[in-house]
Amino acid sequence: MSNLQDRSHEQILAVENAFGAHTYKPLDVILSRGAGVWVWDIDGRKYMDCLSAYSAVNQGHCHPRIHAALVEQSGRLALTSRAFHNDQLAAFYQDVCALTNAHKVLPMNSGAEAVESALKTVRKWGYEVKGIPHDQAEIIVCENNFHGRTITIVGFSDDYNSRHNFGPFAPGFKTVPFGDAQALEQAITPNTAGFLVEPVQGEAGVIIPPDGYLAQVREICSRNNVVLILDEIQTGLGRTGRLLAEEHEHIEADITVLGKALSGGMYPVSAVLSNSETLGVLQPGQHGSTFGGNPAACAVARMALKVLVEEGMIENAAQMGKRFMAGLKTIQNPRIKEIRGRGLMMAVEFYPEAGHAGTVCGALKQQGILAKETHESTVRLAPPLIITRSEVDWALDRIIPVLSSHGCA
Ligand SMILES: *Cc1c(COP(=O)(O)O)cnc(C)c1O
Repeated sequence: MSNLQDRSHEQILAVENAFGAHTYKPLDVILSRGAGVWVWDIDGRKYMDCLSAYSAVNQGHCHPRIHAALVEQSGRLALTSRAFHNDQLAAFYQDVCALTNAHKVLPMNSGAEAVESALKTVRKWGYEVKGIPHDQAEIIVCENNFHGRTITIVGFSDDYNSRHNFGPFAPGFKTVPFGDAQALEQAITPNTAGFLVEPVQGEAGVIIPPDGYLAQVREICSRNNVVLILDEIQTGLGRTGRLLAEEHEHIEADITVLGKALSGGMYPVSAVLSNSETLGVLQPGQHGSTFGGNPAACAVARMALKVLVEEGMIENAAQMGKRFMAGLKTIQNPRIKEIRGRGLMMAVEFYPEAGHAGTVCGALKQQGILAKETHESTVRLAPPLIITRSEVDWALDRIIPVLSSHGCA
């Protein structure tokens, strides 16, 4: 076998290109090491990670305590399946519920799986608790949503690339504009079981709904006996400066979906949390996952939550988010349409005439900043939540000049 480590940048890309399915168009950088907010490429160049694996690495790369938890638990017992009990699962449930105020937890692995699990749960709840006639349950979702890549989920996406030629799709979903509580109210029928929404739309480009939207949505769902499902896979676990983004409007979802940073990026761990007894409708044999709730995942997730709280990452995200945003707002460039953010979930949107935002990300890379565009015109900025003041300033010193000149001939 040849040793990939000894190959050049070009050789590695050629192998990826030849043997891999081309489902991503990555930035032209090959990373081999990470620590905290920093990553290094195979030639030893250092970059600040301002994507954080789409907010999976909120706790920073290779967090020593999360790494230790993975090493320790995977050397003792990694997987039992749920055919047997393991001694880590109960503690994981307890920690998650204590932290989030949830009553029940369903452990899964990827974010999309957890969303699918929430949808299954809500349909079953609709028939068995709400009394919706057989196979008539409707779930309302939002325009420009992103909830993952399975066939059901892309079936209610309105992104052309995500859904084109993957049909036929599952029926039972209705779409309403994001941020419009009245549209939700009008779409609800006696057969509506749930409303699935991101508190801030991440993949759509960090779209923040109008103030009061989530509180109104909460009220509408309660009044109509509709389960409110918040997909906090990206907004959750400190990213917006609160543990959960729902806290910005002082509400509680009936079902919260977590993933990504639930493991600090160390291992795929996701979970459905239910506040009402929604998850109580699931009985043995009705849902499952070979890896869901495995001991290694539980140990990693417990530590990922512990460091988030003990090391003050949530408060830090709020403070550093303010500092970062204040810096970004000083940028003078008429090609910029909007600069927006909540906590350390930030984005700069250019007018389409400014050219593709991928160009900005290439220029940022030259300055030692890794970021990725969403769609054609938006650059998302989301460093790990452990970023320090001086690291924010270091980043701004590099980002401001690049964003100030983009699109200006
Ligand atoms: C990333 C993401 C998902 C999907 O998670 P995967 O682990 O990639 O399946 C779902 N919802 C939101 C809001 C996300 O950001």
